[in-house]
Amino acid sequence: MMAPALSDPDTARLDALEGEALHRALLDRVEAAWQLCREVHPALPRPAVWLDLRGKSAGQAHFGRGGLRFNPVLYEENRRAFLVEVVPHEMAHWLVHHLEDGGRARPHGREWQTVMRRLFGLPPSTTHRFDTGRASPAPFRYRCACREHGFTARRHALARRGSRYRCRHCAQTLVYCGRQVFEKTV
Ligand SMILES: [Zn+2]
Ligand SMILES: [Zn+2]
Repeated sequence: MMAPALSDPDTARLDALEGEALHRALLDRVEAAWQLCREVHPALPRPAVWLDLRGKSAGQAHFGRGGLRFNPVLYEENRRAFLVEVVPHEMAHWLVHHLEDGGRARPHGREWQTVMRRLFGLPPSTTHRFDTGRASPAPFRYRCACREHGFTARRHALARRGSRYRCRHCAQTLVYCGRQVFEKTV
């Protein structure tokens, strides 16, 4: 019983969108997810939507402001994941919050997981793979013996051209280990 409850987005069409049309696709998806939630909770208020989140967070249900916030940079780079996963994720928070006693439910607890599974037909995952290249100032991960280091694109380019960097703590030369791709949705 894991059939997606929202229609599968047309990836080719989605990839071709820009600017206002791209934002409109997100708003349309929020509307569709909200309509789906109203089947179980007809009085659910319509959330306002802002594309004003910065940094590493993909989305956020903001009950004080009365709506859902999304990260426009991560959305542009991860369009499909936003429509398929992030919008239902945040809308599920919105629904649970407005259910009776929902304000006391744990953020990703049983109620939220049930909405994800039963209403949206999605696994209740809280972590998504996103390319955070432009959203994170230092997305290039380097390793030494003691920890992980984040490099900016500029520093990464210098390292690729032969510059060596040492860890201040263990003095080992830093080795590139890939771009940061993991992001958590709150
Ligand atoms: Zn070190
Ligand atoms: Zn969440």
